[in-house]
Amino acid sequence: MGEKNPVKEQAAAPEIRYRNLYEDTGKVYTRKVSGFFQKIRRYTGLPLIAGFLLMPWLVVDGRPAMLFDLPARKFHILWMTFWPQDGMLLAWLLIIAAFALFTVTVLVGRVWCGFTCPQTVWTLMYIWAEHFCEGDRNKRMKLDQQPWTTEKVLRKGSKHFLWVAIALITGLTFVGYFTPIRELILGFIPSLNESGMVTFDVHPVAAFWTFFFATATYVNAGWLREQVCKYMCPYARFQSVMYDTDTLAVHYDAARGEQRGPRKSGEDYKAAGKGDCIDCSWCVQVCPVDIDIREGLQYECINCGLCVDACNQVMDKMNYPRGLIRFTSEDQLENGATHFLRPRLYGYTLAVVAMIAAFVYAVGSREPVSVDVIRDRGARLYRISGDQVQNVYTVKINNMDQRPHSYEIAVEGAGDFHIRGYRPLQLEEGEIFTLPVRVSVPRKDLKTSKNTIYVTVTATDDPAITAREEASFIGPSMH
Ligand code: SF4
Ligand code: SF4
Repeated sequence: MGEKNPVKEQAAAPEIRYRNLYEDTGKVYTRKVSGFFQKIRRYTGLPLIAGFLLMPWLVVDGRPAMLFDLPARKFHILWMTFWPQDGMLLAWLLIIAAFALFTVTVLVGRVWCGFTCPQTVWTLMYIWAEHFCEGDRNKRMKLDQQPWTTEKVLRKGSKHFLWVAIALITGLTFVGYFTPIRELILGFIPSLNESGMVTFDVHPVAAFWTFFFATATYVNAGWLREQVCKYMCPYARFQSVMYDTDTLAVHYDAARGEQRGPRKSGEDYKAAGKGDCIDCSWCVQVCPVDIDIREGLQYECINCGLCVDACNQVMDKMNYPRGLIRFTSEDQLENGATHFLRPRLYGYTLAVVAMIAAFVYAVGSREPVSVDVIRDRGARLYRISGDQVQNVYTVKINNMDQRPHSYEIAVEGAGDFHIRGYRPLQLEEGEIFTLPVRVSVPRKDLKTSKNTIYVTVTATDDPAITAREEASFIGPSMH
């Protein structure tokens, strides 16, 4: 952006515009900008992209570090395996993420949208490809108006080639979280069958979702861009609700900037009643959602700070102090002070910390085995065999550990309860086994017709791996 003098690019003062929510606002040609916030966007975006691309390739304990194995109903995350029974943990995780988002939004506005949202990060990549192939804003506008020439075809073609390549890599990587990525990629490599036909080994479902996500990426980041943030994203709506007058957001300092307008070099613009805004519109030209922040805080603003970078460069060139557009709060602008520590923030922070602590405890205390005990509905309530009373149950054991174990079953209750007819079971990693068991007790031990028993399943090689379930034991009436 250092190649031009903003003073020579001054434009007429804008009027207030009223937009229909669904009106076509035309194609947005963003101007390239560098600066502090653009750097932060790069430094937050690159690790996120690298993490997304690398994670399916990492191997932990001989399996992908992150794999959502839907057919087996297992979710491997690093060294842990989660099962459908752990669905509550996933719900907790989503609730924690939502509250963390609220907390950050109260403090610093929609920085999630401006710096880390996948839509923003992928759009940044697509814009980079656009700049690389077609040049900066003015060149792109000119190119679009030109008739189709060889240069235009080459420039547009190379941009779409890069866009499609990024989309395919994204689609493959995303599906790589649900099916092992090495096999997925090998499946897309063509081979010849015995009849000389080209074939692919990839599963049709995996191929469908790969192309689906590739198309979604291409359309969202290449064509829809800011429309996703404005009209499709639900977060955009409720994040704005979190704002209060002390929330840090990108604001234009109207008291300092107005009256905006062009000025001659060396002119005493203050004496002429003008403010620091030279009305060059660079802040608008760099805005990815095509708004003019000088019109005040708007729901479309994603707090990306690009207009701050652009305006600071203009201020530097004009030898004015930086910060005409800056991250600040409404309170700061109106009363000269921001109250960072406020009850709303305390509340959200406490809630997030408490939920994280509860989540860590729940994950840490998860038993790698679960047991369900169900009374056998097909059998009589109880049987009497000699001096023994018997109940029949179906016991379901799920070995959720990442290695095989042999399990033994025990029963406890108020009396000499014991299990008949079973041997310790060998369960493979992730195996679920269902077996019928008969529980007996001497009739003299029963004091009531309905008794409580506890069935315990314990790994023979590691007694710390154990699970317990309560069940009812029915005996004859005592009357
Ligand atoms: S706010 Fe800054 S970047 Fe925007 S028009 Fe005024 S001087 Fe230019
Ligand atoms: S107004 Fe500024 S901070 Fe808001 S989206 Fe546009 S460039 Fe980003």
